Amino acid sequence: MLTHNLGYPRIGSKRQLKKASEAYWKEKISLHDLLQVGADIRLQNWKLQQEAGIDLIPSNDFSFYDQVLDMSLTVGAIPERYHEIVTDQKRPELDLYFAMARGYQKDGLDIIAMEMTKWFDTNYHYIVPEFKKDQKFKLFSTKVLEEFKEAKRLGIHTKPVILGPISYLLLGKEKEEGFSRISLLKNLLPVYLEILTKLENSGATWVQIDEPYLAMDLSNEQKEAIQYAYNEIKKACPSLKVLIASYFDTLGDNISLASSLPACALHIDLVRAPEQLEKVLESIPKNMSLSLGLVDGRNIWKNDFKNSLALIEKAKKAKVSERLLISPSCSLLHSPCDLEEEHNETDLTTEIKNWLAFAKQKVWEVSHLKNLALGKEDKANLTILSDNQAAIQSKTNAQIVHNPKVQKAIDLLDSGYSQRKSAFGDRQKVQEDNLKLPLFPTTTIGSFPQTKEVRQWRAHLKKGVLTQNQYDELISQETKTAIQWQEDIGLDVLVHGEFERNDMVEYFGEQLNGFVFTQNGWVQSYGSRCVKPPIIYGDVSRPQAMTQKWTSYAQSLTDKNVKGMLTGPVTILQWSFVRNDQARSATCQQIALAIREEVKDLENAGIKIIQIDEPALREGLPLRVSNWDEYLEWAVDCFRIASTGVEDKTQIHTHMCYSEFNDIIKHIAAMDADVITIECSRSQMELLDAFAEFQYPNEIGPGVYDIHSPRIPTEDEMVQLMEKAKAVISDRQLWVNPDCGLKTRGWKETKEALTRMVQAAKTLRKDTGLNISSFTTNAVNTP
Ligand code: GLN
Ligand code: ZN
Repeated sequence: MLTHNLGYPRIGSKRQLKKASEAYWKEKISLHDLLQVGADIRLQNWKLQQEAGIDLIPSNDFSFYDQVLDMSLTVGAIPERYHEIVTDQKRPELDLYFAMARGYQKDGLDIIAMEMTKWFDTNYHYIVPEFKKDQKFKLFSTKVLEEFKEAKRLGIHTKPVILGPISYLLLGKEKEEGFSRISLLKNLLPVYLEILTKLENSGATWVQIDEPYLAMDLSNEQKEAIQYAYNEIKKACPSLKVLIASYFDTLGDNISLASSLPACALHIDLVRAPEQLEKVLESIPKNMSLSLGLVDGRNIWKNDFKNSLALIEKAKKAKVSERLLISPSCSLLHSPCDLEEEHNETDLTTEIKNWLAFAKQKVWEVSHLKNLALGKEDKANLTILSDNQAAIQSKTNAQIVHNPKVQKAIDLLDSGYSQRKSAFGDRQKVQEDNLKLPLFPTTTIGSFPQTKEVRQWRAHLKKGVLTQNQYDELISQETKTAIQWQEDIGLDVLVHGEFERNDMVEYFGEQLNGFVFTQNGWVQSYGSRCVKPPIIYGDVSRPQAMTQKWTSYAQSLTDKNVKGMLTGPVTILQWSFVRNDQARSATCQQIALAIREEVKDLENAGIKIIQIDEPALREGLPLRVSNWDEYLEWAVDCFRIASTGVEDKTQIHTHMCYSEFNDIIKHIAAMDADVITIECSRSQMELLDAFAEFQYPNEIGPGVYDIHSPRIPTEDEMVQLMEKAKAVISDRQLWVNPDCGLKTRGWKETKEALTRMVQAAKTLRKDTGLNISSFTTNAVNTP
């Protein structure tokens, strides 16, 4: 029996990599310094895994930005626009690499970055490979080899990790028509064979090849491609021990394919899909080893050793011990680094801390599991097991986890909680009377620029430099200015600006029971960007109103309607570490009930329009399409629980900001929000086609300008986009708004852009007004 790890977090336990790379980008530190920080992190990671007794320690799991981009550089898939960036002494390879990730505006060049998108169902973003029809590949970067050799020099024999050829191709995008990226395999494979041969020649014994697509639905062509690729690898490197890793879901109907591959070992995720073990054991050949992914790489809870040992026992019955490997379920990239970095004096009490395991602790868990499974019943091991079970028990029985009131409220949930009083058509009339908005009403998505000052006030409040009163005063001034300014430029539905919020999930989590926050539980989101997801440990409830104070204050300053602004239950769930002792849907329902109460409080306070943001609804989609409906049903129901407790006259908005609604449009309609605002401008309104085709009945605000760039759109552009929208959606349904919140923008460009946007809406009304009056005239003249 061997222990191994699929990957360790590379940001450093104190986010050293973030700090160093940002300093390097600002030219504050040298390349040499940056490389040194990378080397130090690798050394630290390797050492701590070695100390924990991990048999196969990964290398090449380190990355300066992203492992998929690493692969693009390795196989030389460098889009043409970067060919101008010649690497030499002055401009190292790493600068080309960063240019691909972040764009390049230097030395008279202006090259845009590669696209970035979410890594399966995680909140990690990878850089999307770009492929052309005649795409050539060649071994360009030898990072994987160098890291293996680096570790070897340090006396650590590692298992290099690379992203497999099939998943690499499937994660990419065709940049021209007329070919399918999987057809590039024959060009790509020789580079893989070259790398693997070089690794073997350098002394590598094991390599881990990640094929997360094995947990997805695969076409026959894709299945054949996998078969072909691994046959070729076997032929080229017959004695290299290849471990193929799948994760994030069950192998499902790919079990027989996966176990037929000529690999030395197969890794399966038994945290997400423990039920697959039996079938895998039935179909896996005798000479293939099985890696049991037992320790959750995606969450922060201690492993329940009893559970894991039971799974190992099951595997032992079918397979000899020597053919088993013990490991985390997936790379620990998605876990925070080290619980020891958390200090006790904060929210994270000793009680809760005792329930948690971060990456470093998880590595030890893997090693403990092996010892326990091998029946090493010495005193130390028995203590480890009993401590573990005591921690698990203490969480199961903890008072702070269970709130009978919440349980009771959940038991009372019935379909009445998911239904508005009247159908949309009737509500629309009542709302038109209640709100008296013009045609093509203008609004924004919620946040206004979070300037340095605003962020500093919050930091000063935390440090005690500002008192709560002083802070509140500053925020109210900022809000007041924003309200006045929105009135001045003539927006129809105003927002308070979200100046008091740090983050759209954290702000709510901090005010809800059942949540706790770490000081250092950072996880890489993309590049140098890290997030610190809240931990939901117990039943969620709302002790008091959360947003009413600032919303009501903003409303008191104006006669126009101020839109209340809430984060939806699915998004809060999706961006947190969640409980593992109940279904995600159950946790989501609890959050939904808390938001429902907040919605009612806002309504009672006289707020007539309330927006419930759900930008993360789509990213929660399961990997397997066959599981989509089940997820979407409870997710939509939770949104409805949150949003339907109001009177007909109260207008509910929702907001989502990602493309591709086609495949889930039915469920978006089922959310039954009175208005949905969506990101649309980058796709030039193409996104709206899904709504048009479906004959989406409610109102829609298709974003008319991209907020990701400081560029100010012209009025004409926005009118043009709205004309496109008008062609497929009726005028009465349409709103005019930007793509998303303006938090990351500066005031100057925001003011300019919104002024033009309001002007664009006026132009639209004028044009439409003419049509209406000519229609009326006609009607009058008709005898
Ligand atoms: N209301 C939020 C904002 O305006 C929405 C953010 C989002 O969609 N991610 O910032
Ligand atoms: Zn958005």
